[in-house]
Amino acid sequence: MIDLHTHTYESDGTSAPNELVGAAVALALEALGITDHDTFAGYDTAAPLARDAGLDLVCGIELSTKRHHATGARGRSIHLLGYFLGDPPPAEFRAWLEGIRVARRDRNRRLADRLQSLGLDITIEEVERLGRSQTGRPHFARVMIEKGYVANIQEAFDLYLDESAKGYVERDEPELEAGIRKLCEAGALVSLAHPIRLSRRNPAAFEKDLAEMCAMGLGAIEAYHSDHLQTDTAFFLSLARRYHVAVTGGTDFHGDNKPGLALGTGYGNVAVPRQVLEALRNG
Ligand code: AMP
Ligand code: ZN
Ligand code: FE
Ligand code: FE
Repeated sequence: MIDLHTHTYESDGTSAPNELVGAAVALALEALGITDHDTFAGYDTAAPLARDAGLDLVCGIELSTKRHHATGARGRSIHLLGYFLGDPPPAEFRAWLEGIRVARRDRNRRLADRLQSLGLDITIEEVERLGRSQTGRPHFARVMIEKGYVANIQEAFDLYLDESAKGYVERDEPELEAGIRKLCEAGALVSLAHPIRLSRRNPAAFEKDLAEMCAMGLGAIEAYHSDHLQTDTAFFLSLARRYHVAVTGGTDFHGDNKPGLALGTGYGNVAVPRQVLEALRNG
């Protein structure tokens, strides 16, 4: 069993890189992919530890991108996973990520202001104390819980932080096509993360979008994921075959930020075969 989609506390997970490596070893995972949002900090720390522990560690990253509609309506958020960016990942790509972090910091300031205007006493300094390389909405949620404004993470998102909630402020994210291009230029294999989020409403429209993404350089689809039923996984495996792209899979482990979701097995519904990684490497 392998797990190619996990987050450390360097983005929005709660496990330290050494804890994640330890948990993967304890589970006897045959490979672990660290795919923090917009940063390699967790991977960089984990790499020597994994080497010492004999754990097969895969370098990855997750990027949020936007795809704008011709109508100018708010774009859809599409998450990309990039794998095998080289050891170490190219400096130019890391510099590009720095720009994304600046945009995130700007969003965080506006988000704190917005929450203040909604009557929540939350400052950017308090939130940034929790986030390490990368402060995000889950850290805002934790401060809201600590201060008693909400009971749990889900309530924080439902009431304030979700795209549809009253506290939401937009972040300047790369366009889908630019995200795919930057990852490809950095030598990455690009996979479409948790595709169920895009296909749920309209599977036929999703297939058309997928074909377009493949033309942009998408090289894989995350068929195995904690949010997928067995029928979903079968659907995405068949699409991967039809569009001649590879398959990736992982749980999207976030530690305590996603309660009930375990490394390797997700909600008990995930078991990514080792052959998935072998196929990627031989691909
Ligand atoms: P950010 O990158 O700061 O905008 O935060 C995005 C992260 O917030 C995602 O990776 C999830 O971990 C979390 N998140 C986004 N939407 C929700 C939601 N509706 N419920 C719970 N967590 C969410
Ligand atoms: Zn995440
Ligand atoms: Fe994601
Ligand atoms: Fe993720």
